[in-house]
Amino acid sequence: MALPKRRHSKSRRNKRRTHQKLSGTVSVVKCAKCGAAVLPHNACGQCGFYKGRKVDHTVKEEEKSRKG
Ligand SMILES: [Zn+2]
Repeated sequence: MALPKRRHSKSRRNKRRTHQKLSGTVSVVKCAKCGAAVLPHNACGQCGFYKGRKVDHTVKEEEKSRKG
């Protein structure tokens, strides 16, 4: 298996890692159902809805009335 001939310098390693930093900004969108602050492309933690559909089954509100 091929191996690198020489070790990269600390400077070269650090220059490569400058692109690995976190942006520091977190985008937040509003839930269409209840208006709570939600991360984009994530189900709402308050009502469990995503794209107008209930996807999070840990959030229970009218689930019991439908079954029972
Ligand atoms: Zn919601």
